[in-house]
Amino acid sequence: MTAKERLDSFFNADPIYAKKSLGQNFLISDFAINLMIQKLKQLNSPNIIEIGPGPGALTDLIIPLKKNYTAIELDHVFADYWKTKEINIINQDALQYNWTAFQNKSQTTLISNLPYQISSSIVIDRSTDEELFSYMILMFQKEVAQKIRAKNKTSEFSLLSLVAQTFWDIETVCDLGPRDFIPAPKIASRVLFFKPKNHSIKNKKNYLTFCKVAFKQKRKMLKSNLMQYTKLKELDLLAVMSELNLSGTARAEELSADDFVKLYHRLGYL
Ligand code: SAH
Repeated sequence: MTAKERLDSFFNADPIYAKKSLGQNFLISDFAINLMIQKLKQLNSPNIIEIGPGPGALTDLIIPLKKNYTAIELDHVFADYWKTKEINIINQDALQYNWTAFQNKSQTTLISNLPYQISSSIVIDRSTDEELFSYMILMFQKEVAQKIRAKNKTSEFSLLSLVAQTFWDIETVCDLGPRDFIPAPKIASRVLFFKPKNHSIKNKKNYLTFCKVAFKQKRKMLKSNLMQYTKLKELDLLAVMSELNLSGTARAEELSADDFVKLYHRLGYL
């Protein structure tokens, strides 16, 4: 069956009903679904977690993999449906869920066609948990995906890019258009694959605070944003920056994620 046929049969030939407020755009591209599932198979994680299984575009193909599968779904209609299939489903808002309680994160792949309202928060939060997922395969609005992979020294390089690029090597899996979904969104979409990098950075929440401070006033020089956080005198901060070959007049967007990690660690030892 195609994804479109599966979606029609889920809704029993009734008109397909989607809640806009929950970012429900159901995936019907067999091409994209197969690429995402192929990737998932290659990774061979013992555990898989999906945010927002909905009517099951991905879920129907994940279950036959016979892994330890969990789903988090806010919409009780879909949550109730998956319960009848004896799927381990958490009927909760993925933003409110206590992710620190999730066991064996480092042997788990997170997969999702993310509802667009929560996608940036999920990336930032799941990158700064003390234990991180081993891999993530996530669908975004194309602009958000571009922001996540933006290069430093461009105006697109933001807190989201910095946090994502600190903890992950990120690859593009595929691009999708509005007609790959029902209902068709106005925007284009992109799937990204996150591979681990720097997962050993200690005290990730502290690192996040540091990054937030650095981007607090984007137009200001980085040193001004950081002086308050570090409680260092300007000259001492400039000395540390110059030691790491960073310009004292740089703005946050000019540094790479690796520069930020170095600076964070160097300042941590002061
Ligand atoms: N995986 C399906 C559905 C994607 S639409 C597909 O690809 O076709 C996004 C899904 O996320 C919907 O099922 C929606 O109900 C669910 N959702 C929306 N907000 C959520 C939240 N905050 N927490 C968990 N699930 C959410």
